[in-house]
Amino acid sequence: MDKGLSRRGLFGAGAAAAAILAGTPATAAARSAMTLRWWGNNGWEIRVGTKTVLIDPWLTRFKTGTYTPAGADPRTPLSVNRALIDGHLDRGFLRADHILVTHGHYDHLTDVPYLAERTGATVIGTETHLSLMAALGAPEDQLAIATGGEDLTFDGYSIRVLRSLHSATGSRAQVAFPGTRTLSRRDRPRVISDLLEGGTLAYAVSGGGASVLNLGGSNYLESELAGLHPDVVLLPPGGAKVTDYVPRLLRTLGHPRWVAATHWDDFDFPLGQVKDAGGLEPLRKAVAAASPGSGFVVLDHLGEFTP
Ligand SMILES: [Zn+2]
Repeated sequence: MDKGLSRRGLFGAGAAAAAILAGTPATAAARSAMTLRWWGNNGWEIRVGTKTVLIDPWLTRFKTGTYTPAGADPRTPLSVNRALIDGHLDRGFLRADHILVTHGHYDHLTDVPYLAERTGATVIGTETHLSLMAALGAPEDQLAIATGGEDLTFDGYSIRVLRSLHSATGSRAQVAFPGTRTLSRRDRPRVISDLLEGGTLAYAVSGGGASVLNLGGSNYLESELAGLHPDVVLLPPGGAKVTDYVPRLLRTLGHPRWVAATHWDDFDFPLGQVKDAGGLEPLRKAVAAASPGSGFVVLDHLGEFTP
C-alpha cells in the first residue's frame, strides 16, 4: 500500500494524484531506497531507511501577498501554527534527524526553531540563519554552522553543503530582505522583513542509492555544482535574470534523470491547497527543451516520489 496516499487521505490533502510524471527518463534505473515527499514551497522530506532529512520545512504558510502585484507586506507578523505541526508530529507522520536551511527568509526558516525543538534534529545553516533561529528560541545545542563546502557523513546518509546564490528578481536583479547578522540570541524577529536572507546554501543529500540536490533559490554557483551528478534536482521556477538559468544548470549537472519542481505554489494558500503561482509551465517547457531525457516531476502537497 502507498503509505503516502493513505496518510494524505487522513490529512485531507486532496484526492489528486500524488505525482504527475511528465516524461520518463531515458536512463531510468531500478528504484532507490530514498523517498522524497514535498511539504509545499521549498519544503522537502528525504527519507532513507529510518532516517529523515528535512529541507526548509514550512507548514504554517501564513498570508503575505508575495505573489500579488503589490508583493509581500514586509510588516507581516511571523507566526507558527504549532497545532498544525503537532498534528503531523504526534501521529508520527513527520520526523527529522537533520533540518537543512537554505536561507533565512520567512518561507524557509520560520517553522524550523519549533520543529527543531520537537524533533531534536540537528539544524544546518549559516551564521545569520542560526542567529535568527536562536533569537526565535531554537535549541542552541542543535544548531550547526556551515559556510558551504562541508561534506558530512551520518548513519545511512551524507550531506554536502554547497555555496549558492539567492534568486535575484525584478529589472535590477535584487535579493529580497538582504543582509546578515552575527550570532546572537537577542533581537527576536517579529515580522517577515526581520528574517534576512543571510547567504544561501544548496544541499546535496545522498543515501539509499540515490542523491538529490536542492538549490534553495532560482540561482546557483556553477563552479560549486561541476562534477556533481545528482539523480534528482529540485528546481524552482524563475531565474529570469540568470544567464541560461535552466539549460546551463542541467548541462552542468550532466542532465539528471529527474527534475522535480519546487517553490512553485502560492503559499498564501494553506498546506493541502496547491495553487500554481505561475511559474510551473514555463519551467516544464524550459526543462523539456534543455534536457528532453529528464523526467519532470510535479508533486501534490505531501505527495511522494522514489527516484
Ligand atoms: Zn528567499
